Amino acid sequence: MKIIILGAGMTGLSAARILTQNGHEVTLLDKGRGVGGRMSTRKIELAKADHGAQYFSVKSPEFRLFIDELITEKVISEWQVPQRENVRYIGTAGMNTIPKYLAASLNIQLNEKAILIHSQSVETESGNQYPFDALISTMPTPQATELFQRSQTVLSEADQRVLASIEYDPCIAVLATLNTPSTLEGGGLLLENQPVAWIADNFQKGISSVPSVTLHASADYSQAHFEHNLQEVGKDLLASVRDWIAPESIEQVQVHRWRYSLARQRHPHSFYKLEHAPVYLAGDAFGIGNVEGAFLSGLEVGKALTSLFD
Ligand SMILES: Cc1cc2nc3c(=O)[nH]c(=O)nc-3n(C[C@H](O)[C@H](O)[C@H](O)COP(=O)(O)OP(=O)(O)OC[C@H]3O[C@@H](n4cnc5c(N)ncnc54)[C@H](O)[C@@H]3O)c2cc1C
Repeated sequence: MKIIILGAGMTGLSAARILTQNGHEVTLLDKGRGVGGRMSTRKIELAKADHGAQYFSVKSPEFRLFIDELITEKVISEWQVPQRENVRYIGTAGMNTIPKYLAASLNIQLNEKAILIHSQSVETESGNQYPFDALISTMPTPQATELFQRSQTVLSEADQRVLASIEYDPCIAVLATLNTPSTLEGGGLLLENQPVAWIADNFQKGISSVPSVTLHASADYSQAHFEHNLQEVGKDLLASVRDWIAPESIEQVQVHRWRYSLARQRHPHSFYKLEHAPVYLAGDAFGIGNVEGAFLSGLEVGKALTSLFD
């Protein structure tokens, strides 16, 4: 069976892996230049910084199996995040080591933005058509809704209710290189009721050969400042953490908006099929959220399609 997956983040890659293992013809399309979506790691000259997801935990046996494989392959390592009881995991060369590992054996077309869904094919911005028997959309749900509306995909009342029920928090992220190390102990700090909710030292984390930090603004701050001047917002956020990052140590600064970071309101099941089309919705907004949730969502939709078409 021909399956097209929109999005080569954790969900899409996890779905593609199981479907490919089960003999289906799978093509992943992603509008980005690389794989990984929100598990992105940026290079700023010699420095590296995890930009989206920072670390992840393991709760389910299915994800544990995958984690054991990643440990054996040296794709991830343990990280004891200060203030968190159980051990967490990070990519050995940054979080995008994980999607890159998954992507190695898959058919992925990058720089391919889906702009229209026809009854049995996807049209991309570059003018290509990709035929499908089933389509899995893993992009953040508001983007999928916009694509369905533009494509005049028939959405039942139940479909519309599911799509409308999902909500994400925004997040403003600041990546900065430093000329002297930060004073963070243990490489990470969670803050409460402050503009910055999380600071990571990518050098202490072991992914950057030179000092660099990642700041994530709180959901409230990000919401309130989302449309403000990004450079000013970056200055404001860095000033608020001067106790750990000395202003005179800051060299290069990049500030980014994540319109969709963590799914705050999620669908209770790990995927959803549109009532009148062979279109499946999956992603971290389906099930438990986060990196593990994205993996499980991809796995479950992949299993469901496999059993349906075997
Ligand atoms: C700032 C931030 C911090 C986070 N921190 C953590 C954390 O510490 N721990 C944790 O577990 N999780 C964290 N998360 C959440 C985690 O990153 C996500 O849950 C997970 O990566 C989602 O994977 P996904 O594949 O479902 O979606 P995505 O990674 O968003 O993948 C969707 C893909 O779809 C592509 N796409 C979109 N539109 C189109 C289109 N029209 N055509 C083709 N492709 C398209 C995108 O380019 C993207 O690659 C964080 C996220 C952010 C943003």
